[in-house]
Amino acid sequence: MTIETTPAAPAFTELGLAEPILRAVADTGYTTPTPIQAQAIPQVLAGGDLLAAAQTGTGKTAGFTLPILHHLSTRAVPAKPGHPRCLILVPTRELAAQVEESVKTYGKYLSLTSMVMFGGVNINPQFKALKSHVDILVATPGRLLDHLGQKTVDLSGVEILVLDEADRMLDMGFIRDIKKVLAVLPKQRQNLLFSATFSDEIRTLANGLLHNPKSVEVARRNTTVEVVEQSMHRVPQGHKRDLLVHLVRKNDWQQVLVFTRTKHGANRLAEKLVKEGITAAAIHGNKSQSARTKALANFKDGSVRVLVATDIAARGIDIDQLPQVVNFELPNVPEDYVHRIGRTGRAGATGSALSLVDDEEMGYLRDIEKLIKRSVVRVEVDRDFVPPARPEPTGDDRPPRPPQGRGAPRQGQGQRQGQTQRQGQGRPGESRAAGRSGQPGGNRNASAQTPAGRSVQGKPAPKPGPQAAAHPKKPRPQAALFSSKPGSRGH
Ligand code: AMP
Repeated sequence: MTIETTPAAPAFTELGLAEPILRAVADTGYTTPTPIQAQAIPQVLAGGDLLAAAQTGTGKTAGFTLPILHHLSTRAVPAKPGHPRCLILVPTRELAAQVEESVKTYGKYLSLTSMVMFGGVNINPQFKALKSHVDILVATPGRLLDHLGQKTVDLSGVEILVLDEADRMLDMGFIRDIKKVLAVLPKQRQNLLFSATFSDEIRTLANGLLHNPKSVEVARRNTTVEVVEQSMHRVPQGHKRDLLVHLVRKNDWQQVLVFTRTKHGANRLAEKLVKEGITAAAIHGNKSQSARTKALANFKDGSVRVLVATDIAARGIDIDQLPQVVNFELPNVPEDYVHRIGRTGRAGATGSALSLVDDEEMGYLRDIEKLIKRSVVRVEVDRDFVPPARPEPTGDDRPPRPPQGRGAPRQGQGQRQGQTQRQGQGRPGESRAAGRSGQPGGNRNASAQTPAGRSVQGKPAPKPGPQAAAHPKKPRPQAALFSSKPGSRGH
């Protein structure tokens, strides 16, 4: 795998990490720290607070995990059951599982212990695990609060706090939960905040949380799109399912991640592919955690060729060298497009992203192209594609419409408004709701590979108003990052 490195990137051995950690890193085959690792590791080792602008795919997980392992392994304290020394808060279950996997990988030659905690799964094994000593706890906020409420975890010994993908946590409505967690942490601790974007809300959170933080910043999401080859087919919505089947066959795609706007649309598409003899699975918030984990594992090992996902369900999915992403519908928040295509072209690998764009989605395409500052290549649909004699009915497959009327975004509310609209589809906060109830959502399908039919699926998306017509000018969420000058934000 090729990685992005700074011109004079130091070797891992020059960063001051303990030998067992360096050995574990060497086992992974990484030779050079990524830019975020080269910048963040020395800062975290120095002991102060850190504000890091980095998104998934940059190697940020090792950027905080390696120095944390160093600190914890070199500062011995008596083991106490259920008293973690490091808390890593993340927005989604998938990311939680992946971060804890990294902790285990990089800490394999140390005697530190770790645990992952998220909702949507039986809480009893978590109770049991907390009866032993846990050094590093990786958790989603909802389930962590459940444990705090039941006094099965005690955060009074936390030496290091990490908020990973803080912008996503705020987008998903976790701010109150985060504040409740902060309230029970000891005052004296090291804080690390990682975020891909810096809205006013993130700055406020950072200002309240961090003390004289050092700032590090690596390539913004908007520039990582450069490694991904981006193209689009203009195609009526009702032809998209057949076209996708055609494309998978014609290009012999063996591993393709497809994004749909709705859970229902994801189910129907996966169902269609399976009917056509193409192995496929859908993941979204109505699937049980075990179905999601299984679908992802099958996708990673190649037994499922097409994984159909909604935006939230796909967050944090980390598949090395995923070659192909398809946007079955364009998202109405341009930043989501960047996040989606960032699933491919990771850690410097190349990738390809194809969007299927109905006429009604052209406004979204223009917004996206403005954000990424490049055009998405228009490619004619293959001549040998035969459109269906009877195009699929639209209904739930309508391309997304912009917010409108009283719900339309005001200046400066772009991303939040987009999130609010998505909330109507029950996505943001789904992990949290699941965490609270112990159930991942009402409408589960037992099989990951044979999505259930229409009758058992979620409600169709609400109908857009008749005069949705044009795409109103959507204000951009704050994409510019903070100044990289330490102390410039008035700490
Ligand atoms: P992350 O941004 O933490 O999700 O990491 C993105 C991907 O980069 C993961 O698949 C890591 O395994 C990989 N990775 C992390 N650090 C390095 C490195 N120094 N060299 C090569 N790959 C890396």
